[in-house]
Amino acid sequence: MNRPLTKIILIIFIVILLPLIGFTVYQLSSISENEEVLQEIYSNQLESILFSVNQHSDDVVSSWAGTVERHLLSSGQTSEKLRQFTNDFPPIEGVFLLSYVDRSTPVFQTLSPSIDEKTISARITEVLRENSGAVSKLEGYFKSGFRKIESLEIKDDNNLIILLFAVRGDGKENSLAGLVVNKRSFISEVISRRIGRAAGDKFTLAVLSDARDSIVYSNFPVKAAEIDRKKELWVLKGYSLGISLKGETLSEAISERGKRNLYILLLINLLFISGIILVLINIRRQIRLAQIKSDFVSNVSHELRTPLALITMFAETLETGRVKGEDKVKEYYQIISAEANRLSKIVNSILNFSQMESGKRRYSFRETSLNELVEKVAETYTFHLKNKGFQFHMNLSPGLPAVSADPDAVSEATINLIDNAMKYSNEVKEIVVSTGVVGKMVFISVKDKGVGIAAGEIRQIFDKFYRVTSGLTHNTKGTGLGLTIVKHIIDAHKGKIEVKSTPGEGSEFILFLPQR
Ligand code: ADP
Repeated sequence: MNRPLTKIILIIFIVILLPLIGFTVYQLSSISENEEVLQEIYSNQLESILFSVNQHSDDVVSSWAGTVERHLLSSGQTSEKLRQFTNDFPPIEGVFLLSYVDRSTPVFQTLSPSIDEKTISARITEVLRENSGAVSKLEGYFKSGFRKIESLEIKDDNNLIILLFAVRGDGKENSLAGLVVNKRSFISEVISRRIGRAAGDKFTLAVLSDARDSIVYSNFPVKAAEIDRKKELWVLKGYSLGISLKGETLSEAISERGKRNLYILLLINLLFISGIILVLINIRRQIRLAQIKSDFVSNVSHELRTPLALITMFAETLETGRVKGEDKVKEYYQIISAEANRLSKIVNSILNFSQMESGKRRYSFRETSLNELVEKVAETYTFHLKNKGFQFHMNLSPGLPAVSADPDAVSEATINLIDNAMKYSNEVKEIVVSTGVVGKMVFISVKDKGVGIAAGEIRQIFDKFYRVTSGLTHNTKGTGLGLTIVKHIIDAHKGKIEVKSTPGEGSEFILFLPQR
């Protein structure tokens, strides 16, 4: 690889690739970090939603306890007021009082007619006995100014639950009061409303039965296994509140987000790297062109210097008048004329090329016979070819159809090919020029038995200034413009060029032109 390109690659690596690699590594590590932060934020959000539902249920029950105490303390029809109170709040099935001293006999102030008083009393007594420790603490809390509400499950009863709390009794003494609460109704009347408000349409909130690990209520259909986070329900023993992100689980949502970020990152990297590759290819092409141009300048200088030196030398010798004999003088003039021709050929090809490059070259098409054209070229070249020791054959196909072409331009292309065949022939000096028809195309072929061209080079030899820099070609001077001009001419005729070549054996260049 050449030095300027290595330098550019190094600069690109330091200025673009290194920061890109750093950025990618940083982003990759922060994707998982972000995931953790998001997970934490979500967890906190879930916790606070669960807390708000729990808090609300607790507030409702506390307000019920306050109302019960107020009715107990007020004068007059206490039972009547409490019955009215239970009617207003459907989840409450009954209210009872208990003395601290005799906890075994709940005295019902009101009870729903659907519940048998004796059975429920017996069950309450049993529950109180089983939870005597917790019950005892209620008075202690109350004395220190805080009313704790104890939720007590009734064995063998799926429907009812007891909420027990301390109150100031009518004798101005503390006593215990209890609410018999219908769990289903509590969930559907109290908890569900709060859930609706707290969850919005982004979360699924559910009440789960701990014993059965099943959903009792949820704002959207959900399975117990899909619940992300659970918290026990303070006011309903044996039940929990559960929450999950609607539609997908939390971790799915986060990992989906992480994946998306990763893909975007990969895409950015891919775009960057493709951009860099494109830039490098372009730079490489420009560097090569610059190198080729500088080779061109040195080649052309050399090409011009040799004939100029010869012309100067022979002209000066003639000037001195010391050349002896007519023949010698004639020979010197011939050399001067040949070298002047060579000079004008080089200058012409450079001028032609520059005209083509600026789009100024114009072609004048007319009906042309390729056989005649080749014969004319051969006429002017045969002497030169024979002089250089070449065997020259013509193989012209009779009855060749005419083509619409610029004869000067096609002659120039053919001469360039014959010139190359001469330049790139080594020991076997044999050139065959043929014409013929293939399909709708008429062709001129120039075949030599010279050095040939490697398969990998064939595509490039038509590029401007391109010269093969190995083997014999290396020592043969040229401008690298001959074939570029040929291609331009043939393209302008809507024709095509075919090259068949085997290194060491020879080459054949075929110019195809469309029939008229
Ligand atoms: P130039 O002959 O001035 O170098 P051209 O554009 O005519 O430029 O040719 C480009 C390259 O193609 C040459 O340098 C040579 O390597 C290769 N080439 C062209 N014609 C032949 C041929 N007949 N045999 C072998 N190589 C050839």
